[in-house]
Amino acid sequence: MQYSDNSQQAAEYLRQAVPLMVKYKIPPHPLNYALWYTYVTHKLPRLNQELDQTIQKYGTCPAGLETKLFRSHLISQELGETEKLQAALISVATGLNHSAELAVASTHDFTQLLQESLHALHEADEAPALESIAQSLYSHTVKVSEATSHFQQRISDAQKEIKRLQDELTATRQDVYTDALTHLYNRRFFDETLTRVCNSTPKPLLALIMLDIDHFKKLNDTYGHMLGDKVLQCLGQIIKDECHESADGVRFGGEEFVILIYEHNQENALALAERIRHKIQAIRVKHKATNSTISSITASFGITLQQAFDVPERMLERVDQALYQAKNTGRNKVVCI
Ligand code: GH3
Ligand code: MG
Ligand code: MG
Repeated sequence: MQYSDNSQQAAEYLRQAVPLMVKYKIPPHPLNYALWYTYVTHKLPRLNQELDQTIQKYGTCPAGLETKLFRSHLISQELGETEKLQAALISVATGLNHSAELAVASTHDFTQLLQESLHALHEADEAPALESIAQSLYSHTVKVSEATSHFQQRISDAQKEIKRLQDELTATRQDVYTDALTHLYNRRFFDETLTRVCNSTPKPLLALIMLDIDHFKKLNDTYGHMLGDKVLQCLGQIIKDECHESADGVRFGGEEFVILIYEHNQENALALAERIRHKIQAIRVKHKATNSTISSITASFGITLQQAFDVPERMLERVDQALYQAKNTGRNKVVCI
């Protein structure tokens, strides 16, 4: 997002943004200020639309959602600009490389022509002065040709470096908050988001689901780790498909997952857990070595709702306790605490 507003204009936006933030009980930290500043500028209509819907639904903008909006609207704009810049750089470098290739080819032709003329002059044994001029021209041309080749090599190296940096940037951006196997969010994202929600949400707004695959060790031992990984990926996909705009799926670690739901509603959390539980039951994985189909995958679920003044550790303890009860009372079920 480019902020090219002059200071008078920026001050006007400040006067509009702050009362809105107070009205909707938005904590005045920089991330929120950037969001609401942009909101009053009306420069990103989609952001305004999503913020309006969020306020309508919750009366405020919960901490988890504000991070999401910031990432998808403000950061992605910045990254988009960076990517455009990189693409422009690559196209300039490609153009330069092409010109250098042409220069190398033409100096090569010219060198050859000079060499042939020099030979002809020498054979004719005439005009020694001309021969000396041609000799000097020839050695200069060889130098130019070498310099151009060197230049071309440097451009080609620079092109490779730009491409490498671009790939690195893309990978880093994805890596920081993503689990490599399931492509869900990772533990780091979870810890940061839960802390932020617990610290800044004016009233409890969160529900937490924790799920753990049943007897996963046995599945690994019987069919191998590779198949175990495949099952984890299937679960990742199911969770992703079920988590819409107000929920985030996270691989908590190993064969445990959590879902952050930005809604203080036990009924909805329960319904979501049940949908996922049924989909897991329906997983069918082919074990090639024995040509058998595995159809007995299940998971147990714990659910808890955020309470006033909850700290992240307390919420985690409760959801873990709920999951423990589900495990101890038969598995493949959902328990709410
Ligand atoms: P329970 O029903 O009580 O949860 O039993 P369980 O066997 O699922 O639980 P346990 O904690 O005994 O075993 C978890 C297993 O998960 C052990 C470990 O090898 C496996 N696991 C953890 N991470 C991965 C992974 O990334 N890939 C695979 N294939 N297995 C994993
Ligand atoms: Mg476990
Ligand atoms: Mg398990």
